[in-house]
Amino acid sequence: MDPKPLQTTITGSLPKPAWLAEPEKLWSPWELEGQTLTEGKRDAVRLVLRDQEQAGIDIVSDGEQTRQHFVTTFIEHLDGVDFQRRETMRIRDRYDAEVPVVVRQVGRPRPVYLEDARFLKAETNHPVKFTLPGPMTMVDTLYDDYYRSREKLAWEFAKILNAEAHELMAAGIDVIQFDEPAFNVFFEDVRNWGVKALERAVEGLTCKTAVHICYGYGIKANTDWKKTLGSEWRQYEETFPLLRESKIDQVSLECHNSRVPIELIGLLEGKDVLVGAIDVTTDEIETPEEVAVTLRQALNYVRPELLYPCTNCGMVPLARNVARGKLKALAEGTALIRDELGL
Ligand SMILES: [Zn+2]
Repeated sequence: MDPKPLQTTITGSLPKPAWLAEPEKLWSPWELEGQTLTEGKRDAVRLVLRDQEQAGIDIVSDGEQTRQHFVTTFIEHLDGVDFQRRETMRIRDRYDAEVPVVVRQVGRPRPVYLEDARFLKAETNHPVKFTLPGPMTMVDTLYDDYYRSREKLAWEFAKILNAEAHELMAAGIDVIQFDEPAFNVFFEDVRNWGVKALERAVEGLTCKTAVHICYGYGIKANTDWKKTLGSEWRQYEETFPLLRESKIDQVSLECHNSRVPIELIGLLEGKDVLVGAIDVTTDEIETPEEVAVTLRQALNYVRPELLYPCTNCGMVPLARNVARGKLKALAEGTALIRDELGL
């Protein structure tokens, strides 16, 4: 990977073109079907790659153009989950949803994203990142009528994720990231088995591994929840010491416009930190200087070699021109800091 410090990257998702799925919407259904859908998804990946490259993003992703949802699309490819049956469950302690049901042993009959990963790798010369849901967040998306234990189900998912991740690595993926928004909610579970399950998911991987902990997209349930968290968001104080001791290489978190006290990233000493310098809950495009301000604050606690300027979270709900503007601001703000540091 390029050794130049302050490698820019993104959390994961980017908006989809309107011809592929209705824009500015989560869970947006596909506008195409069959072979046309397959080709459309690939064209969309090519477009988001060009957008990232033109903006100056160093470590690029497929923008999750091939999936409807960051957790459910993966689970849809597994055995043992009945999507016809629905039970009501509280998601991340925040809102109720009708969710699919685990009815027997879960398994992965065939690779889920391997072809997508090969395509991504073949379409760019940049280092590439690929995202997968984390085991705890997968558990938090389902009603479990079989294992009846969040821990046991998470462990089964971790083994499945590990097999998938090994194939992605073999396809040339440079960074595999697990998305664990549930880590900001279930602290006792994180301590008891969440980090262990995550470590099971990365077992034996020699590529970079990352975890994205998160306060969520800019949807109402999340912004309402954030209002209840007080003036200082100290949730990371619980999880960072555990992650510092873990085998995970990188931690991605929200910093710009969040109430996370920046000094908390000092608890991650020795890890790569993906510093969220782009707010994904607003259409307002940051100026490069605003990005630079966030990065300067983070540099008080993280060495430049370990700091990766990033977005706060996925950008799928944003308009495409807004997302493109934000990517450019991220790269330009990083360039300001590289100049200051003589990098
Ligand atoms: Zn996120």
